[in-house]
Amino acid sequence: MVQDSSAVEFGVLGLEVTGVEEVLGEVVVWVQSPGGQAVFCDGCGCRARSKGRREVVLRDAPFSGGRPQRVVWNKRVWVCPDARCCVGSWTERSGLAGPRRVLTGRAVSWAVDRLAAVEGSVASLARQLGVAWHTMWAQLASAAERAAAGGGRVGPVVKLGFDETVMASASRRRRRRFITAGVDADTGRVVGVFEGRDAADLCKWVSQQAREWVRAVEVVCIDPHEGYRSAIRSRRGDRLRAGTQIAVDPFRIV
Ligand SMILES: [Zn+2]
Repeated sequence: MVQDSSAVEFGVLGLEVTGVEEVLGEVVVWVQSPGGQAVFCDGCGCRARSKGRREVVLRDAPFSGGRPQRVVWNKRVWVCPDARCCVGSWTERSGLAGPRRVLTGRAVSWAVDRLAAVEGSVASLARQLGVAWHTMWAQLASAAERAAAGGGRVGPVVKLGFDETVMASASRRRRRRFITAGVDADTGRVVGVFEGRDAADLCKWVSQQAREWVRAVEVVCIDPHEGYRSAIRSRRGDRLRAGTQIAVDPFRIV
């Protein structure tokens, strides 16, 4: 059963499952691209020669039932046979994960969704995926930036919510860190994530967004943290429309 559902998921990404095992409560899935296809050098067009395979270990979104999942991708390595070509060797690519990543694309989407639903802090998501805090943070921030880039691709947001409850707890080496997620209050979709929790951080984020997109925002939902209220009201927040209403999340008042 484990094998069947995994085979379907990975088949979509053009990879075949060669093994599934449960190791110490963790699901480990081995995948590779099917053989038999000719691959050509991007530089000179020569037919590439196989240089074998190299294992890359990735953390994936938890398996059904919440069990952690690891993917071992037996990546093909190719080499251009033409000595005059500057391309040399390269490893295959897949929609599973970008080059030099430790998390699969699905794991990043999963974490963004949890963060949006305030079901996890950066620290707890990092723990669940078995990666370092800064790795998780970098992935979440870049995923949110991609989603929000230009505003046009996200589409206009009429009700924009900010939630600063997501944070990394303090440790001996680090101060408590606050993370704010900007969320489309109508759809629950994360449109941006930034570090910090006060007016300056919010203004900085707003100033990085496309002017047209900012103008389309009609209602800003915040929790009654004073830093944010002042950002909306102050002249520094003037990129948000003058008539922007401030809706205070009723749950916060309790
Ligand atoms: Zn070549």
